[in-house]
Amino acid sequence: MKNSILKSTLVLATLAQPFIASTVIAATVVPVTIIHAGSLIDGTSDKVIQNATVIITDNKITAINKGFTEGSSEDTVIDLSDYTLMPGFMDMHTHISSQHNGPASYMEGFTLNEADYAIKGVMYAEKTLMAGFTTVRNLGDSHNETVALRNAINNGMVKGPRIYTAAKSIATTGGHADPTNGRSKLIMGDPGPIDGVINGVAEARKAVRQRYKDGADLIKITATGGVLSVAKSGQNPQFMDDELNAIVETAKDYAMTVAVHAHGKEGMLRAIKAGVTSIEHGTYMDEEVFKQMKKYGTYYVPTIMAGNWVAEKAKIDGFFPELVRPKAAAIGPLIQQTFAKAYKAGIKIAFGTDSGVSAHGDNALEFVLMVEAGMKPIEAIRSATQSAADLLKISDTVGTIEVGKLADLVAVKGDPLKQISLLKEVQFVMKDGVIYKHQ
Ligand SMILES: [Zn+2]
Repeated sequence: MKNSILKSTLVLATLAQPFIASTVIAATVVPVTIIHAGSLIDGTSDKVIQNATVIITDNKITAINKGFTEGSSEDTVIDLSDYTLMPGFMDMHTHISSQHNGPASYMEGFTLNEADYAIKGVMYAEKTLMAGFTTVRNLGDSHNETVALRNAINNGMVKGPRIYTAAKSIATTGGHADPTNGRSKLIMGDPGPIDGVINGVAEARKAVRQRYKDGADLIKITATGGVLSVAKSGQNPQFMDDELNAIVETAKDYAMTVAVHAHGKEGMLRAIKAGVTSIEHGTYMDEEVFKQMKKYGTYYVPTIMAGNWVAEKAKIDGFFPELVRPKAAAIGPLIQQTFAKAYKAGIKIAFGTDSGVSAHGDNALEFVLMVEAGMKPIEAIRSATQSAADLLKISDTVGTIEVGKLADLVAVKGDPLKQISLLKEVQFVMKDGVIYKHQ
């Protein structure tokens, strides 16, 4: 069977006479890429299709056939008959331009500049893509360097996933994303909305509008204390209702969603009621929080990996500053249990790792931890494909393997539904119709 697509090219003969344009139709044969998949998880349901052919023309999926179909001599045939083909994975919580490396991390704010973070981002973006993650939502950087990184990737200058970035997170004074926490008064300064620190409604609006101006795709706020900041509480509420409402309302004007870092219950409840899009980490969620999330349709992005990572590191003397260590020991081990409860409660879950806390490229470990906590393997995969696309509001272009979608595809050898850890060894990566990895 011949799968090459006949493409009609419409040529406008002249623009000199705008109202009498004559047309010429030229037929050209466009070579296609033909993938033979032993198993196909298309992400639209829990079903697995055996022996399927996926045809890619330019950067789009143009046909999906039962059985292995052949093409013409110009076509490229990729034999993945021993593999499981899936939509490209999507990580909804990364910090792609940095990575925690113990005590030294706390000095980086004083020693690194924008360019340092930008260059780190280039390296981590490639690692992330090679691990099978073709899209990430980046929830916080240092100097808006991920806006430049996103653009460089989109322009084909750098290898990496599609990035949807919040740029610099928004906090309140002393809050989890106040970059001057723990500093001497001499160098503490008084950061404001441009730096992502707000107090009151006017500053909240300004911070959102500044991010729009900076080129961010969405907004990230830190609604409660956090583990890694040099501050006492890991869970206290840090925004008032009027500030949250101002952020959500202003973000809506720019079609931006709002992702919310939160561990404590009160901060989560305030944010959910203000209409935010997702709760990240969500450590102290309970039935009351689940009820509100269902009511408001809020997504949960668990980041179990980050919880386990900080819990492990808290056991090492001197790894964290003394203010951070007890928070890491208390909050870290709870996230996997919270995830298990949220899953049972039927909360909408999208895959996210907080990579940048743990190492970039290890993202797929989250699948293993989700399954360990009771989620079905197919649901874990769909949380990182179809659900993630829904959270990002880009379901029309990515997240499933369907005709018309962008060709973001990954494959592993064997059956990840029987052995979820296979997802840590992605052997085939295609993004936007381009093959980046094929082992
Ligand atoms: Zn984070």
